Amino acid sequence: MSGRLRVATVWLDGCSGCHMSFLDMDELLLELAPRLELAYSPLVDRKEFPDRVDLALLEGAVSTPEDEAKARLVRAHSRLVVALGDCACQGNVPALRNRLDNEQLLDLVYRQQADGPAAAPPDRNVPPLLTHSLPLHRVIAVDLFLPGCPPPPAAIVRALTAVLDGETLSELPTLKFG
Ligand code: SF4
Repeated sequence: MSGRLRVATVWLDGCSGCHMSFLDMDELLLELAPRLELAYSPLVDRKEFPDRVDLALLEGAVSTPEDEAKARLVRAHSRLVVALGDCACQGNVPALRNRLDNEQLLDLVYRQQADGPAAAPPDRNVPPLLTHSLPLHRVIAVDLFLPGCPPPPAAIVRALTAVLDGETLSELPTLKFG
């Protein structure tokens, strides 16, 4: 492609390990850097999602209304969307809570398994939760799945290179599942 690829990375309900994997591209990241612009990310100081990016990599499941709104915003402003890591691809760790309803979950965490005296769930710092933690494709259309916990840096390099070289993501043989 001509010009630099405008890339966003987005942190939903994940542990940041997928972003660590992005950084673990190490010197390959430096090689790609002249061809990329990191337009939005926890790694850069930009508060608002840009009007348009070429590729957005989203880490984490969709667990809160805030996650859902952010995922929809990113989809609306991104040419291509990648589910980055197992939480985004299939729910993984955040989805372990899905066997409980939200009331049971909060009771388990704050009363039954309290580290110290059992207490009522706090009325702040716990965001409203969706009834289930969802993989990204249950909320928005996804163009490519990069599984792994975390996904290997080589897979991220492969995806970035493919887009830079004009490959069709849906035809990448080893990175897509589901
Ligand atoms: Fe963390 Fe693994 Fe989920 Fe990535 S896939 S956010 S490394 S738990």
